Amino acid sequence: MWTNIKDQSIVSPTGDGSVEFKFKCSQCGSDIVTNSINIPEPNMMADNSSESEVCRVKTVVCDTDQCNEEHDLNISNGFGGMYVNIDDVNEEDIYYQSI
Ligand SMILES: [Zn+2]
Repeated sequence: MWTNIKDQSIVSPTGDGSVEFKFKCSQCGSDIVTNSINIPEPNMMADNSSESEVCRVKTVVCDTDQCNEEHDLNISNGFGGMYVNIDDVNEEDIYYQSI
């Protein structure tokens, strides 16, 4: 089941989950569904939520004919939950689902 990233549900506080993301390509407007991506584990030694955030960047290429736009998914996970930011893509157009 696809969940909008805006809902900011906690995927897994221990980070053992893999998710798929779905978002609209900012170049051609078609939907891109990623392969399974491992969510980084939060820093469990951190004192607070912002220090606990661990980030990773995953580059996804749009495979629509003649587009091939590269998108960097900036994924962070912390005590407050998982979040992803993609340049030029509104969060309304970003969804995820657990595998
Ligand atoms: Zn595209």
